[in-house]
Formats: sequence, structure tokens, C-alpha cells
Amino acid sequence: MDKLRFAVAEKFISINGEARRAGELSVFIRFRGCNLRCNYCDTLWACDEVKQEENCTNTGAECGDGRTAQKMSCVRDENTARDPGDMCGDGKTTHDMNTEYMTAEEIYGYIKSSGVKNVTLTGGEPMIQKNIAELLELLSEDKNLRTEIETNGAVPLEEYYGKMPDNISFTVDYKCPGSGMEKAMHLQNFEKIRSCDTVKFVVSDRTDLEKMCEVISEYGLTEKCTVYVSAVFGRIEPREIVDYMIENKLNDVRLQLQIHKYVWDPQARGV
Ligand code: SF4
Repeated sequence: MDKLRFAVAEKFISINGEARRAGELSVFIRFRGCNLRCNYCDTLWACDEVKQEENCTNTGAECGDGRTAQKMSCVRDENTARDPGDMCGDGKTTHDMNTEYMTAEEIYGYIKSSGVKNVTLTGGEPMIQKNIAELLELLSEDKNLRTEIETNGAVPLEEYYGKMPDNISFTVDYKCPGSGMEKAMHLQNFEKIRSCDTVKFVVSDRTDLEKMCEVISEYGLTEKCTVYVSAVFGRIEPREIVDYMIENKLNDVRLQLQIHKYVWDPQARGV
């Protein structure tokens, strides 16, 4: 049986824009598909999933093998793509001709060929890829790599905490009220979060900052892991966050700016 493949929206080498290794080189793998729709999302283009109807209205030419998708079995797995042969003959869809369908070994090979030690798995939402455990295991065995998974806080992580060595770390977002997605947060993730992991609060306004304080206090997060607060670009000035931190004596919380948005155009892809 063919191996499951990951739907990779883009892959590239850049500097880490966020979290513990901010400013260092990292090789990025951006997976396609997300289970949330934050109202400030800057990677919405990578969030949509290819639905059967969307995927099956193309022509043979677009499928690349002369067959029409409508005549084929084009049902896309809910969260990730199966072998491209099951879809449109060459892995392309009318929805996004740029999506690549890669096995865990192919992703690992790309990472190693980059010569970069830091790996960032991002999205979309990487943890909804059905075969993510296989990729994480492969990456964890290579002690020369440091892999960080940027995850949105809505996917249960408890089963991974016990299994993964600390060269695999999670940066878990808490989507504050301003995102419109707060109800989706899986708060149990914070109960057993490890010291090698990070929680990141993405804030739009003072209400979000207040909610951040509540959650930090309820789960004792600053004693357990690294805690960042990050501004939704264009919605809140970083200095307002600093003022709030001073006012509320927020020790052990770090302000984080998304470096890549200052180095490149805030809308730029692949950086
Ligand atoms: S979780 Fe991340 S990728 Fe998904 S919609 Fe929100 S900001 Fe976008």
C-alpha cells in the first residue's frame, strides 16, 4: 500500500521569526489545512482543505495524466492527502497547483539537504496531518536536528508529551478572544506541558492581555515552560503590551515581535 503523504503548501529556508530560536536559521515546512479560522490569519491561503467537489471539477489537462478528475476517485482525506495517484494522477489539484505531496522520508531528505539544524513545522496546522507522528518520530531520531512545531492550541498534545524527546518541542498558541477562536482551545494541553515547550499568547487588545493573565495564572505556565506574548500585527502596538506588562508586573513573560514581518513585506510568503 502506498504511504500516506503530507500536503506541503511550501517549504523554504529563512530565519525563525518567532519563539526560542527567533533570529536563527530554520528550515520551514508549511503544511496545508487548518481546523481554525482566526480572523487575523496571515496564512489563510494555506488553511483551506481540498474538498471533493473542488478537487473534482478540473479537466484532464489539469490532472496531468489525461484523465478527468470526475472519473477518478478524488476523495481527499479529511486532513491530509493520500498518494497523489489516488487523486488527480500527478498530485496536482485545481485548487492549488503548488501543493506538494511528500512522504515523511522525502521531507526529512529535504531538511537534511538544507544543512540547517533548526526545523519549523508550521501551517495551517501541522498536528492535524494524520501521519504527523511518523514524521515526528523520524525527526526525533536525528539528534542533530531541533524541531519546533507551531500548533494552534486546538489539537490535543498530551499523547505526544510523554513520547517525544526534547529535540521535538511545541510552541502552543493560546488564541485569545480577539481571534474569534478561543472556544476551540484545548486547555488540557497546558496541564502537562514540558519545560522544553512554549506557550504563545497572540493578543489584539487589552481584553486579550487580561485573558492571557488569567490563563497563565490558572495553569501556572510561567513555572512550567517559556511564555511569549505576541502582537497581532497591525492591531496593537508592541509598546501597549510593554506598558501592560509593567503595569501588571508580568515577570517571566517575554514580548515577541514577528521578526520576519519587519525584515520583509508583512504579506510576503516563503520568508
Ligand atoms: S490557527 Fe494559525 S493557520 Fe489556522 S487560521 Fe489561525 S492563524 Fe491561521
